[in-house]
Amino acid sequence: MHDDRELVEERITRELHERVVPLVHPERQTMRIEAGPSLDELTPFATGDRWGPPWTTTWFRFAGDVPPSWAGRRVEALIDLGFRLDAPGFQCEGLVRDADGRPVQGIHPRRQAVPVEPDAGGRVELVVEAASNPAFVQFRPSPMGSRDTAGDRPLYRLERAELVLVDAEAEALVHDLDVLDGVMRTLDLRDPRRARLLRTIERALDGLAAGRGVDAARGVVAAALATPSRAGAHRVVAVGHAHIDTAWLWPVAETVRKCIRTFASAVSMLDTDPGFRFAASSAQHYEWVREHEPELFARIVEHVRAGRWIPVGGMWVEPDMNLPSGESILRQLVTGQRWFEEHLGVRCAEVWLPDVFGYPAGLPQVFASAGIRRFVTQKLSWNRTNRFPHHTFWWEGIDGTRVLTHFPPVDTYNAEVTPAELAHASAGFAEHGWSEWSLLPFGYGDGGGGPTRDMLARADRLADLDGMPNVSISSPSTFFEHVEAEVAAGAPVPVWRGELYFETHRGTLTSQLRTKAGNRRCERLLREAELWATTAGDADARPLDDLWQDVLTLQFHDILPGSSIARVHAEAEATHERVAAELEERIAASLACIASNGPVLCNAASHDGDEVFVGSLKPPGDGPTQTLTDGRVAFRARVPGLAVAPAEALAVDDRVVVTDRSMSNSRLAVSWDVDGNLRSIIDIAHARELIPGGELAAVLELAVDRPVRYDAWDLEWWVRREPERLTTAESVEVVERGPLVGAVRVTRLFGASSATLTYVLRAGSPRLDVEVEVDWQHSEHLLSIAFPIDVRADDATCGIQFGAVRRPMHASTSWDAAKFEVCAHRFVDVAEPSFGVAVLNDGRYGHALADGAVRVSLARAARYPDPDPDRGRHEVTVALCPHGPGLVEVVAEAERLDLPLRAFTGGSAPAPAPAPAVSVTGDGVLVDAVKLADDHSGDVIVRLHEACGDRRNVTLAAAFRIRAAAFCDTAERPRRTAESSDGVVAITLRPFEIVTLRLGDSAS
Ligand SMILES: [Zn+2]
Repeated sequence: MHDDRELVEERITRELHERVVPLVHPERQTMRIEAGPSLDELTPFATGDRWGPPWTTTWFRFAGDVPPSWAGRRVEALIDLGFRLDAPGFQCEGLVRDADGRPVQGIHPRRQAVPVEPDAGGRVELVVEAASNPAFVQFRPSPMGSRDTAGDRPLYRLERAELVLVDAEAEALVHDLDVLDGVMRTLDLRDPRRARLLRTIERALDGLAAGRGVDAARGVVAAALATPSRAGAHRVVAVGHAHIDTAWLWPVAETVRKCIRTFASAVSMLDTDPGFRFAASSAQHYEWVREHEPELFARIVEHVRAGRWIPVGGMWVEPDMNLPSGESILRQLVTGQRWFEEHLGVRCAEVWLPDVFGYPAGLPQVFASAGIRRFVTQKLSWNRTNRFPHHTFWWEGIDGTRVLTHFPPVDTYNAEVTPAELAHASAGFAEHGWSEWSLLPFGYGDGGGGPTRDMLARADRLADLDGMPNVSISSPSTFFEHVEAEVAAGAPVPVWRGELYFETHRGTLTSQLRTKAGNRRCERLLREAELWATTAGDADARPLDDLWQDVLTLQFHDILPGSSIARVHAEAEATHERVAAELEERIAASLACIASNGPVLCNAASHDGDEVFVGSLKPPGDGPTQTLTDGRVAFRARVPGLAVAPAEALAVDDRVVVTDRSMSNSRLAVSWDVDGNLRSIIDIAHARELIPGGELAAVLELAVDRPVRYDAWDLEWWVRREPERLTTAESVEVVERGPLVGAVRVTRLFGASSATLTYVLRAGSPRLDVEVEVDWQHSEHLLSIAFPIDVRADDATCGIQFGAVRRPMHASTSWDAAKFEVCAHRFVDVAEPSFGVAVLNDGRYGHALADGAVRVSLARAARYPDPDPDRGRHEVTVALCPHGPGLVEVVAEAERLDLPLRAFTGGSAPAPAPAPAVSVTGDGVLVDAVKLADDHSGDVIVRLHEACGDRRNVTLAAAFRIRAAAFCDTAERPRRTAESSDGVVAITLRPFEIVTLRLGDSAS
């Protein structure tokens, strides 16, 4: 008896591919081929010919004649465009169209077969719209990411175009053997079932070799395939889907076609396989298909109605979660859910973000506010330091909201339904103690593609098979319903409180600065445009939906994070520019409408009722004024905008005094050395020095930044070890000498790059601004600005969407150490109980918190996938703001910095400014949106949130009489009445609570 197990396993692999697979297509017939740049320009073409310059489309027509002997049998066309066998979606791909141009299915390396029906004359004709997308070599810099540099050499060689006869029994035998072989290899070597399966497969192969035929071989393995899984086996809900990146190694325009190919393939499988289900996220993807292929979309709608095509996610795209504003994330859900409801008649029941780089702690409340209490991701399986301890758990956000969250234990969102994956999922599942269920998202993805018939054939055999978990193809809802039943029965569900920090891809907080700046600018302008249209009371103002959608699309998780090819980012910048220009026009129109009774000077987005305005006209009323150095006049006035906290009075009696190497106002005294390095910042009222003795602040640090695996994505801990400190100045000059503003400009040169830092102190301001302008010419370097702070604190409080979280200032545990670069919006605050120092900024996200210092990442420049990103000028303002206990002052100053004054003049004579559209009083509360209701009723929607983690009483008044007020959901539907008296609404906010109010007739 021979016992060389490994040799027998090798024999199985080889014979399966060389002896059994070829039986599936016993007869073949070549097809006639034509190709060209359009269907009207086709010329004869042959296999072996080259086609496809980068980023172009080639049309193929394939024609063949089915031999009479094949009549009535299964026939397929096999098309190989020159595929590499791995990586569907990362190379050339094609869409098969029928004679009338309708999409039939996509083709890619794992889907080369197209079922065909010959016409009465036995003739078959197919048209393929083929895309020659370049295959990028990970992770090597490539000129292929832009049309300008990609060249025009054809990238692919047509390999095959054949008609084949299909032997369905042989095809089934391939799947039988493949599945049993896979199961065998997952079993422990001591498991008797392993030896038994090995011998069974051998017997089938022996029989084939002896000429006993396919049926006999299937007979040999039938009993093994019919052995059911054991009692108590894990249960897997397999969900077919296709992860389609809205852009990445291809531009947005190609994604439109990827969606069409993938959706056409899914529809064709739904048409032929009654057990199949398909889930797809991203309203934008559906909208593209609806727009470009309405017939295909109509078939999708039918399958949605039948419950077999399942829209998931509820969002416009699958956006990054670190970088968009809270309001943006909320609008992803509002816009997505509204689209799904309007076009498909459904609202999604779960957020579906398998591939996003970390999840801030404010999200559970945002999800819940859109009516969603379930969440699927698996990305944290990529964590490089700590293994996340749960697969199914309650995720509890900063406000206490919980969502039932699942990380599929298969650890991939592109599963292929193999025994190895199922064994991995079952073995690694952390919740066996209380749950029987996990989810398996299957289908080729990232570049689309989706499930294949091979995957379904395996799922069919694995449904109830000894040695494996039970597998059923169904929807995410089915999975959650099973878990919710377990929860209802009292299962001890673990709770994870706080952010789901992603322990890799930290460079995405800083890569591709212009894409991030464009997004930030558009977010501000959208907010302003809604506010001013509301203030103008123009219920007929054109809706901003299309502009919102453009911005939301670009928040996709490889665009906003800066991890796409050059072309994607160039197009994103152009789109942001166009959207911003249009928003500025609309804002100007609203302001002109408001000012039609006379000139108004307004702070567009300030939330202060008594904000300081800077303008060229005399102020309304008799408020205090002061002439600025440039001749403009500063004064206080009521704003036709929002009013939150009563503003501090304009300290007209305050003056900035600038002397040699120091400047001061009534709040701060700042001094610098001969090279312009900040040596001392004293908070006068608190009598505290901000900079530790002997140290320098606002120091630029330049470090070599060479990640190992994913260049644009990753920033590694060693970057911070030995930075070059840029403390030598080319020039230091005082550029404003007071009395309202003092400013000192320091210029530093480093290599081909340069930077100016302008320290700005304003009369009455508690803030020292550092206006940073960089001309960035470095590659593979990180530029940071460092603020050592003389405050003793274990952790820092970081601004996030709709609130704040605490992050460690040390690396004591592995979980602390992994957070060596964190995302913060607007501020990082380091505080002792009675005194703190906040580092604010108006446009950066990456921060390092260590060694008693806060560092803000200003610029980097990875070389893959865009070899030459971020060259040229970038601007950001970073500020230091000392303060007393709590976050109220920090949040208010961060808001002022982020939303600067908008000076506006109209008409010719001074006139009283109108009252704010909406005024909110209450410390620590921020208004996120003031807008007209989307139903054109003229009602006003106000969204606000408690930003400091405290409980607050808030009152809200409006320029118009509030007849009725209601708390509503994010879809603006009233949920319950908000009490109001004399036109003032009084509410109490819980820590970090988000509230959406509807004011007006429809609110009752
Ligand atoms: Zn992705």
